[in-house]
Amino acid sequence: MTISMTEYFQTRKSDRKKETRYINVINKDNCTSCNSCASVCPVDCIYEVVSPVPSESYHQIDTSRCIGCQMCYRSPNDSTDLYTLTICPWNAIDMLHNPNMKPSEHSVFEPYYRGESTGLPWPKLEEYGYQLFLDGEVFLPKAEEKLHEIFRLFQQEAWMYSDEDNVCIVESDPSEGEGYVRYRATEPGRDLLDVIFRSYDRIFMD
Ligand code: SF4
Ligand code: SF4
Repeated sequence: MTISMTEYFQTRKSDRKKETRYINVINKDNCTSCNSCASVCPVDCIYEVVSPVPSESYHQIDTSRCIGCQMCYRSPNDSTDLYTLTICPWNAIDMLHNPNMKPSEHSVFEPYYRGESTGLPWPKLEEYGYQLFLDGEVFLPKAEEKLHEIFRLFQQEAWMYSDEDNVCIVESDPSEGEGYVRYRATEPGRDLLDVIFRSYDRIFMD
């Protein structure tokens, strides 16, 4: 299956007029679901992924709607003291360069793909790859078929694990919840993401 860049950007047109310079990602392992970030987001794109075990609930970001305003990350009008600039009490939020806006022409993923599809939507793969690196799973709205196509690329056994082995980055049988599909990284997929994203550029060093 091939997704052309033209098609990819057409899917984003329905979401937004322009690409943002930055996007927010939440590390679910640090998130306590306190809701501080969601309460300041001007476009209401941070939502809670509710677990039957309350301590396992966490927040996630709909990166297709994030405008990169950084309000969830720091509040520059409050103070010049770095300590009070932070919104998240648990340091669970990273602001990243939007891969769609990166001057670099090549995705960090490209050297690891051994499949046959051409014209892959590398920026989008990179965006979700980082989320999988942080959280090991991503929830997508069921209706967003174009985004599910991105995850079918991660499901291909076409990602270089070693000279001899290719692996899938996400499991082939995602589970479904209320309005969402949950994609989980495979164990070798997480190993691979650790290698790819360990020194990935964030815009602010915590
Ligand atoms: S502020 Fe931090 S801990 Fe609270 S919900 Fe947002 S990401 Fe999670
Ligand atoms: S950067 Fe702005 S738009 Fe994006 S999640 Fe944070 S508060 Fe919302």
